[in-house]
Amino acid sequence: MKLSERSKVIKPSVTLALAAKAQAMRAQGIDLVNFTAGEPDFDTPQRIKDAAVEALRKGMTKYTDVRGIEPLRQAVTEKYLKEFGLRYSKDEVLISCGGKHALYNIFQALIDPGDEVIIPSPYWVSYSDMALLAGGVPRLIRTIEQNGFRITPEELEGAMTSKTRAFVLNSPGNPTGAAYSHDELTALSRVLEQHECLILSDDIYEKIIYDGFRFHSIVALNPKLRERTIIFNSVSKSYAMTGWRIGYALGPAAAISAAAKIQSQSTSNATSFAQVAAIEALAGPQDEVQQMVNEFQKRRELIVKRLHAMPGITCLNPQGAFYVFPNVSSLLGKEAGGKKLASAGDVVEYFLTEARVLAVPGEDFGSTENIRISYATSLQEIEKGCERIAAAIRKIG
Ligand code: PMP
Ligand code: GLU
Repeated sequence: MKLSERSKVIKPSVTLALAAKAQAMRAQGIDLVNFTAGEPDFDTPQRIKDAAVEALRKGMTKYTDVRGIEPLRQAVTEKYLKEFGLRYSKDEVLISCGGKHALYNIFQALIDPGDEVIIPSPYWVSYSDMALLAGGVPRLIRTIEQNGFRITPEELEGAMTSKTRAFVLNSPGNPTGAAYSHDELTALSRVLEQHECLILSDDIYEKIIYDGFRFHSIVALNPKLRERTIIFNSVSKSYAMTGWRIGYALGPAAAISAAAKIQSQSTSNATSFAQVAAIEALAGPQDEVQQMVNEFQKRRELIVKRLHAMPGITCLNPQGAFYVFPNVSSLLGKEAGGKKLASAGDVVEYFLTEARVLAVPGEDFGSTENIRISYATSLQEIEKGCERIAAAIRKIG
């Protein structure tokens, strides 16, 4: 079979592939600790499910407006007005099949072949491949744990070229959990003010933040950027709704309608009754979100403590999201399980075979020295997984 060149420039999503592998192993009865999935283990709050059931009962089973039903687009604009004082019209909102789809549509709508897309690295696996699928050129800015996995304004300035078309901001970020403070974000926004590029702000982890950290929208901090910023968000993480596939983009009407045109020729609308559920998520009481975040915070504390106690492993204490990205470079070059550990992928493989713990190797996130652990799982599982990893490391000596 001759495949398109386009399909050959990208890799399958490693996060989804390993999450599926973990599920399959567990289904075979293997006692695996699953640290792969970037999805809350909590159930979707009942009121949200009820809203979907009610919508089905009422016959909400037909196509909707490609851009999403009006009351949901309205709920999105109201959220941004209430939470950030930002005024968007319903024509500046596109509802898609998850935040990922909203990002994909915008990349397709706004990136041309040869356009450079600046992506701070480590980065969520899909940004670079979405850029490539649009013919764009990912330009990575490498960050390290010692700098909190955050870029400086100077580094951002240094990455700008005449071909720069977009800058991807993801704070709090996947896979590191790093987030930019008010002042850091303001400083980055000053650099962005000087360059005519798009800002693609993926705010999907905005609510999953710890220790009193405050999330800021870059558009609210620097309104001069509004006309060239697209905000991405989703109900997946904040409301434990990953399977519902509802996310959105918010930005200038021209960008939104170009993305909607692409969506109209591919998936059409996001699922009708899931859109109704998303209204309930956004506009209803927000108590469950805080309860889930409180749980995530306990889990983060436990996992960071356990990782810090492992000799040779370093790990940033993240401000948000539900991932840690420990550095395992001290294990590289060592013999383990009869094999030399040559890469983060080998370390993940060793933890899987030796300890029955599955994490995600750092390579596809742009780091050969780290592995990603999702702690969106119970305290017991975290305890068990860390004990197993610690024992596997002790065996290496
Ligand atoms: N952005 C980031 C940074 C993510 O980690 C994810 C995880 N899936 C997404 C976007 C997309 O999420 P979804 O499509 O479920 O809204
Ligand atoms: N974003 C989540 C993760 O990184 C879900 C999988 C995906 O869409 O990449 O694990």
